[in-house]
Amino acid sequence: MLEQAQRVLKDVFGYDSFRGRQGAIIERVARGGDALVLMPTGGGKSLCYQVPALLRDGLAIVVSPLIALMEDQVATLDELGVPAAALNSTLDAEQQRALAVRLRQGEIKLLYLAPERLVQPRMLSFLQQLNIALFAIDEAHCVSQWGHDFRPEYLQLGQLAQLFPDVPRIALTATADKRTREEIVNRLELHDAERFLSSFDRPNIFYRIVPKEQPRKQLLAFLTERKGDAGIVYCLSRKKVDEVCAYLVGQGFPALPYHAGLPAELRAFHQKRFLNEEGLIMVATIAFGMGIDKPNVRYVAHLDLPKSLEAYYQETGRAGRDGLPADAWMAYGLQDVLMLKQMMQNSEGDERHKRVEQHKLDAMLALCEETRCRRQALLAYFDEVLPQPCGHCDNCVDGVQTWDATEPARQALSAVYRTGQRYGVGHLVDVLLGRDNEKVRGAGHERLAVFGVGKDRAEGEWRSLYRQLVARGLADIDLEGYGGLRLTDACRPLLRGEVSLELRRDLKPQAVARGGASPASQLVRGEERERWEALRALRRRLAEEHGVPPYVIFPDSTLLEMLRSQPTSLAEMARVSGVGARKLERYGAAFLEVLAGGEGAPARAPVADLRHELVSLARAGMTPAQMAGQLNCSEKNVYTLLAEAIAAQQLSLEQALDLPFELLSEIQDSFLDGEGELPPVSEIAEQFKGRVPEGVLYCVRAALQSEFEL
Ligand code: ADP
Ligand code: ZN
Repeated sequence: MLEQAQRVLKDVFGYDSFRGRQGAIIERVARGGDALVLMPTGGGKSLCYQVPALLRDGLAIVVSPLIALMEDQVATLDELGVPAAALNSTLDAEQQRALAVRLRQGEIKLLYLAPERLVQPRMLSFLQQLNIALFAIDEAHCVSQWGHDFRPEYLQLGQLAQLFPDVPRIALTATADKRTREEIVNRLELHDAERFLSSFDRPNIFYRIVPKEQPRKQLLAFLTERKGDAGIVYCLSRKKVDEVCAYLVGQGFPALPYHAGLPAELRAFHQKRFLNEEGLIMVATIAFGMGIDKPNVRYVAHLDLPKSLEAYYQETGRAGRDGLPADAWMAYGLQDVLMLKQMMQNSEGDERHKRVEQHKLDAMLALCEETRCRRQALLAYFDEVLPQPCGHCDNCVDGVQTWDATEPARQALSAVYRTGQRYGVGHLVDVLLGRDNEKVRGAGHERLAVFGVGKDRAEGEWRSLYRQLVARGLADIDLEGYGGLRLTDACRPLLRGEVSLELRRDLKPQAVARGGASPASQLVRGEERERWEALRALRRRLAEEHGVPPYVIFPDSTLLEMLRSQPTSLAEMARVSGVGARKLERYGAAFLEVLAGGEGAPARAPVADLRHELVSLARAGMTPAQMAGQLNCSEKNVYTLLAEAIAAQQLSLEQALDLPFELLSEIQDSFLDGEGELPPVSEIAEQFKGRVPEGVLYCVRAALQSEFEL
């Protein structure tokens, strides 16, 4: 059996060997047994049911909660020459009937379905008439009522055990915790399933957490090293997403916003662009991510603290699915803690629930201030022991300097106490530094014993100290009051001099700005670069022709291997990992030609597409200058396209431009001065020279024109 499986792996998928426990899982399911598979993102779960589906007779049913994911998988299988289909609400009645016919005739090997569809009685009885090879239940943690992704329909999947007693079932998830695991077994009635637990380590991800000082600058430094790579920047609020995105666009980065406050259509459009184009930056709230299967996300940057390690692990896990080097980078500061605590305070839920949330946040903070290997700490939280420090996180690479902070910590806590436990860090630091300002005087704090005792330390050191005191629970944020600091019971032993305190020393800002050990964008260097870009250009062109994302044609890892191994014949090409029989036949020759120095035709978005994009950007509130940056064209072109869009009534003038009312009226009056026809722009251009770009006049004219036509 395993031999057959190996052959399918190579012939169809183009891979040489199974990863981790894939082989054992495939063998179990192919022989008709049930399985529960826990594997991290990027571990290769899909193959665990796709290979058995090809080895067994009949139709494999894959239950998946997300339409986007289904379509991605079907497109991928299609490219591999495997007949697959998705049955979902995007099909009309006629298409559904046609699909049913193909299913009856056994023309399809894998059928992707949403759970609510599968459990419809008509669907179940239809499937009972067919020969079913297996059921795969993807994202099986959706059955857990405790999890974030609970889907009530998943609860009904348990009935498959009785309805199809002889059909093997495999449940898969990337969620690790024990309680969820037991819930899956119970609710899906998988009592005889063999359990396959993999390590949750993501060895290709480099973790770095830095103190937040000037977050935008820090982010910019991080992104500058990664130009051309695709990545996600997470922010806590919608407003911040918009601001950061606009800032990055202004700095010349191709960034797109994503949050629940944007119109659904625009969100979908941005998501699609992120998947289909290369090197885009998605600035997003956590609304973005579920079901994003893009394998070559090269980094995930957090500008705000996630509220738990579960969330941190899941969000950073979206980087580097393809196994190539990727970065998880985060800047965090005391302000984050305040924000999250406030959110928790205001959230619904009982006291117990809030306590749990508080513990989760504490664990997250502990990781931020961790002085040992970050990966060891992260995995330990998920009950996994990594015997050695990883050598692939900031703490391992830079080393962590600690210092004896016992005395200054006492001074800092004493400042909290003496000022009445109601002031924020800014004021406390002023007091410690002996700054004689209005607020200090107003409160009479210049008379306190702690006033000025901290003069020999820099402001940044004191801030870092307070941050770490809060992270360690030695001080707390008073949410009932004004968000000032107060003491906790835990700080007593320290104040009494019974214990000492070692803290981490923050690195110098230059070091802090650095990202991973080697940015992924430098995977390809020097003279390789040109060939690499040519391979990517060819891939992009083929992807456009086939209407699929580029990674569906070939993942980056396959292109990289082509570049390195330089195949010169189809036979050699077939040896490249990721080149299966069908792709060899379809694309082998074209890629060989590029490798031999031929031209990958440059791809440029056709004008119609450009205008479509522009309309979305304008509706999202971007200025012409920002759009020019985003679309990589001149501002003059942007105005021309805007004028066209206005003329075609795709945009209103207000959406396109942000003009002061008086100026707009003045321009309109100039156009309308004469009789009859509107004068051409050239006639009034002189009058507005130096006041507005000429493109503005074209836009106003287009708007007037389209009004006249009504
Ligand atoms: P998951 O669903 O667990 O997140 P995927 O099934 O999407 O992971 O697989 C992640 C990537 O790894 C995909 O690009 C897939 O083709 C690739 N992959 C999976 N198994 C292997 C293997 N045995 N050899 C090489 N690449 C593999
Ligand atoms: Zn480490």
